[in-house]
Amino acid sequence: MFPTAIAGSLPKPGWLAETKKLWPQWKAQGDELRQAKADATLLWIKMQEDAGLDIVGDGEQSRQHFVHGFLEQVEGIDFEHKVKMGIRDNRYDAMVPQVVAPLKLKGRVHAFEAQLARAHTRRKLKFTLPGPMTIVDTVADRFYGDKVKMAFAFAELLNQEALALQADGVDIIQFDEPAFNVYMKEAADWGVKALERAAQGLTCTTAVHICYGYGIKANVDWKNALGQEWRQYEQIFPALAASSIKQVSLECYHSHVPPQLMKLLEGKDVMVGVIDVASDEIETPEQVADTIGVALQFVAREHLIPCTNCGLAPMDREVALKKLEALAQGAELARRRYGS
Ligand code: ZN
Repeated sequence: MFPTAIAGSLPKPGWLAETKKLWPQWKAQGDELRQAKADATLLWIKMQEDAGLDIVGDGEQSRQHFVHGFLEQVEGIDFEHKVKMGIRDNRYDAMVPQVVAPLKLKGRVHAFEAQLARAHTRRKLKFTLPGPMTIVDTVADRFYGDKVKMAFAFAELLNQEALALQADGVDIIQFDEPAFNVYMKEAADWGVKALERAAQGLTCTTAVHICYGYGIKANVDWKNALGQEWRQYEQIFPALAASSIKQVSLECYHSHVPPQLMKLLEGKDVMVGVIDVASDEIETPEQVADTIGVALQFVAREHLIPCTNCGLAPMDREVALKKLEALAQGAELARRRYGS
């Protein structure tokens, strides 16, 4: 009961990349960088296991950013000439690469880190990929001229990599779709369909993560402008509930999401965010167990997976580690509290 997991990303050690940044520069190149990525991946597998997490991941140590890490292995994208673009409905500007030709995978994207992680843990292994709609929102289009068409082109490539990750022994493949919370109508119209295309044919567990973003200032300011009740999920959960995706990761603790919206996901596994990634304050096991208690009013216990609200990439490494420990200890407390 209450197997614990993280959304996906973890802070990169200072010897691998710049710290506390969303698009950090690597500290090495070539073989040296490859070795540093491998070392950081193994370090975080060990740290997640020691913290007591049941489902572990590679902490996204091998990618600079959760979207661009995938795009780097796609043909048809010009990374030499990045352009400034407002993303997430102009919430903030990012330097993004441009799609200039038909999209095609250059080869495997995440084989190295997925196989490495699989070889070094017996726990359930979750691997994250960006969702098609979020990719489309994080790249400039100079070729397709049609958002939906481009999203489905990316979905095909994601599907190829996802099937290969499954063959590598990954147990859960999660697509990250923060854009769903920004373009709710489009998400319900075609975003979920593009997501299902990306997950087509997978027999491992499939998941989607929908959040209000990393704990960076632009996101915190945006959240402060969303009012007392955040009801974005209300518009997209019915489409997700009707979809083939098995697990949904959402924000809960310290958010203004009305917890009863979780009821819209009946039948799905719900990864409930019990750890705030926008604050360095470490949750107590009691606070984590309390949040699980709130979620239990709306999610069946066999479907509840305590999780972080979002990735921990831009956080301080020590803070992140303490939060992982709080997550595991809080879930343990909840098992004792709500177990019978
Ligand atoms: Zn997130």
